[in-house]
Amino acid sequence: MIVWFRNDLRLADHAALAAAVEADAKIFPVYILEETVAGRRELGGASKWWLDKSLKSLRSAISQRGGKLICRKGDAEKILRDVVSETGADAVFWGRRYTQPEMDRDADIKKALQDDGIEAKSFNTCLLTEPWSYQTKSGGYYKVFTPYWRAVRSSFEAPDPMQAPETFAGVGIDGDEIESWELHPSKPDWSKGFDEMWTPGEEGAQVRLQDFLDGPIREYEEMRNRPDEDGTSGLSPHLHHGEISPATVWRAVMGRINRGLKEEESAWSFLSEIVWREFSYVLIYHHPKMGRENYDSKFNGMEWRSSKKDLELWQKGQTGYPIVDAGMRQLWTTGWMHNRVRMIVASLLTKHLLLNWTEGEDWFWDTLVDADPASNAAGWQWTAGSGADASPYFRVFNPITQGQKFDQTGAYVRKWCPELKKLPNKHLHAPWEAGSDVLKKAGVELGKTYPRPIIEHKQGRQRALEAWETLKGKQ
Ligand code: FAD
Repeated sequence: MIVWFRNDLRLADHAALAAAVEADAKIFPVYILEETVAGRRELGGASKWWLDKSLKSLRSAISQRGGKLICRKGDAEKILRDVVSETGADAVFWGRRYTQPEMDRDADIKKALQDDGIEAKSFNTCLLTEPWSYQTKSGGYYKVFTPYWRAVRSSFEAPDPMQAPETFAGVGIDGDEIESWELHPSKPDWSKGFDEMWTPGEEGAQVRLQDFLDGPIREYEEMRNRPDEDGTSGLSPHLHHGEISPATVWRAVMGRINRGLKEEESAWSFLSEIVWREFSYVLIYHHPKMGRENYDSKFNGMEWRSSKKDLELWQKGQTGYPIVDAGMRQLWTTGWMHNRVRMIVASLLTKHLLLNWTEGEDWFWDTLVDADPASNAAGWQWTAGSGADASPYFRVFNPITQGQKFDQTGAYVRKWCPELKKLPNKHLHAPWEAGSDVLKKAGVELGKTYPRPIIEHKQGRQRALEAWETLKGKQ
């Protein structure tokens, strides 16, 4: 039997693998770098970096169990048919995907295999509950998070964990070397900061989870908004690539709650974030164009600006707003940005700069190690105001007060904008308001060592609100 790995690069708690074990079949593990999924976006650079390491980790885990991860590049249908004939397998199992281009492709592949007399079966390997599992009382899917969360919280029970197979087959079957796919960047290799922060793969994911459970979970509710603290789990790229199942996370957290964790509400608050990920999948499943098109069609009438220069200053972390620049530089260096800061930088792009959210989403797609078709689009549309259950457009994040409130110690800005390191806290989030003596003492020369604000806050806010006014009454 072939198990085709996709966004579920792990051995434990993997429904397709468990079904193969149950069938008592030899398991030929396959990974395909697909080149022919019509309408699917190419992976971004940071995602490729992650995929490279994650596949190597999976390859090594499989080889420790006597097998070989068969890696091939090209058209999945053709490759699966080839591997079926080379191995004599009579079934192909895989985990489901939920974006329209991928679902269309999978349906075609399933039919082609079945036409050949091969059993083709798919499983839920990536989500707690699939996008069609919960319906509102009036029927239809949830478009608002809180009732969805309430429904999941009150009814979801994680199934028992599924054991990893003890052995694999595959040795002797041809495959590409992962190295030959050149997923790791070269000329230049910009990934040093990634290496320092991440350990892609199943083991790395387990370590992250344990570290989180051993500490930050207790104060998650308070600290989750603080980019100057290590207050969140850092599990997003591991979850995105399926190196850990969300059910494993759920069970581990529930285990703490059931054993009497004092900070129970903090743990529930963390689980609600896990369910935000699920909610994003509900939205993209039912609104497949959400990755490119406004969920709220009223926004189709929005007159976004176009400015390559402003976009580049934002991308490079040169907007003159320290919290924004710190976030954009953290993203560039590590492939990740704190959630609070993602909201602030997204608000600045879509509101102060009045640039279309898709421009920011594209940049995140290329630079985030957790770049996810559902969560990225949902996050951008939430901030821009065009999403389901979105932050209203008139909520314009103030990058100065947000910085003062959430980077209270200033450690975050000082880390990522070292040219501002010596500014006192009072002026750290608005250097242009400091007097010339203070700036001089801190070695800051505005316009030279650090930029002046790309647009004055009040002016940007006003322009955004005026643009919003033009949408009123539109459908
Ligand atoms: P924790 O706080 O430890 O949360 C645990 C897990 O819950 C995360 O690993 C993630 O899987 C999930 N989660 C948390 N918050 C959200 C959320 N708001 N929406 C969906 N899932 C969530 N998340 C992605 O995984 N991929 C993306 O491409 C992505 N793009 C985003 C773009 C914008 C503009 C915004 C505002 C948010 C985006 N998010 C995205 C959501 C969120 O920022 C990240 O999931 C979170 O910062 C990851 O850090 P963590 O693992 O430490 O999170």
